[in-house]
Amino acid sequence: MAEQLNKMEKLVSLCKRRGFIFPSSEIYGGLSSCWDYGPLGVDMKRNIKNAWWHTIVQSRDDVVGIDTSILMHPRVWEASGHLSGFSDPLVECKKCNLRFRADELKEQKCTVCGSTLSEPRQFNLMFKTFMGPVEDAAAVVYMRPETAQGIFVNFENVLTSTRKKLPLGIAQQGKSFRNEITTGNLIFRSREFEQMELEFFVKPGTDMEWFDYWVNARLEWYKKLGIKSENLRLRPHPKEDLAHYARCCTDVEYRFPWNWGELEGIANRGDFDLKQHAKFSGKGLSYFDEDSKETTVPCVIEPSAGVDRSMLAFLADAYDEEQDKDEIRVVLRLHPIIAPIKVAVLPLSKKETLSPLAQQIYSDLRQTWATTYDDSQSIGRRYRRQDETGTPYCVTVDFQSLEDQAVTIRERDSMQQERIPIANLKAALAAKLAI
Ligand code: ATP
Repeated sequence: MAEQLNKMEKLVSLCKRRGFIFPSSEIYGGLSSCWDYGPLGVDMKRNIKNAWWHTIVQSRDDVVGIDTSILMHPRVWEASGHLSGFSDPLVECKKCNLRFRADELKEQKCTVCGSTLSEPRQFNLMFKTFMGPVEDAAAVVYMRPETAQGIFVNFENVLTSTRKKLPLGIAQQGKSFRNEITTGNLIFRSREFEQMELEFFVKPGTDMEWFDYWVNARLEWYKKLGIKSENLRLRPHPKEDLAHYARCCTDVEYRFPWNWGELEGIANRGDFDLKQHAKFSGKGLSYFDEDSKETTVPCVIEPSAGVDRSMLAFLADAYDEEQDKDEIRVVLRLHPIIAPIKVAVLPLSKKETLSPLAQQIYSDLRQTWATTYDDSQSIGRRYRRQDETGTPYCVTVDFQSLEDQAVTIRERDSMQQERIPIANLKAALAAKLAI
């Protein structure tokens, strides 16, 4: 366990040092539980979102995308139950005023000073703000705590504009906000985060079949992108823990360095959401089946994932240290799809004779892949720098290259090197990266 926590500290330090993740507003002392993504982090995060979008939307005929606003009509949150029910039990230390989530405490005492705690009270997790110039009750709007409601309220719009039939999925990625009582473990639980959500509408009666399908599909997605099977598990929720509207729910969990934690929840929400919005808006949200000539309210299966949590899982799973001669080599064994940079071009020396050829190769490769160029310090150090940020391939240009028009490709995980004619370089990299 201590070793795992140590790994977490090293990962946090690497994220900061190499530009994956920075604390928000750091020069002002930071803003608790908000994070900024640096130059490598933003690309890695985008790669995760693109991989999800590709699997869930682009490669399927039965799913379309949407991008809805963060601020929505306040009635949405009445209908969804968030205004009355989206809360956690909060207790406060009577001495040092620290706040805790009552359901997360092992003992009913302040974990910092040991003093007694207040009685729990329900604390709503939605952030409030005001729309327009007047700050009164009529102007209150909420920052969405999930992206899903933007999908439900557009069900009719999407159905009529796409003329699609059931089953029909609507997918969305975007920011959500929750005024979490306890945060921590880097980007695992923050107050501003990104979600990737799919609402998959199906004919009533086929919902359990589709639920099983999506649980399996989502687990496989993480495995396909390189997360080790032994660090993933499914946790079906016991009946007594289910939200009142959910028919069943299963989490995909990852073995984070501190413990197992939820990456994604897959829920069978029945017809609750469409019926609630129909009731509150007065608009009939249903589906007319051309074949059976019946009007039904579809059931919905919701795989709901966190971008930031996935990113932390990809980083933690990829982090590795190995003995290399008399040094420790730190390597991020990221899947090439997820790695922020795919290829690094490294001229063996900074000498002017080498740089034109190296620059030419660099400008050619970057048309196709996220590529970087590094000519400072020894070649060994440059390899280490690329290993640490997960770059799968380095292309080394040396003096021999000027004569034989060939370069060396060095693979991150095995460190094996292969000489390739420059004319074949792109094809060789394409085959290796296979993306
Ligand atoms: P938890 O029990 O960990 O608070 P949850 O069950 O409330 O999570 P959901 O409402 O199911 O989470 O949200 C779907 C996904 O959104 C989660 O699986 C997680 O990946 C992500 N998520 C939720 N809350 C946060 C947060 N505060 N910070 C980062 N990601 C989050």
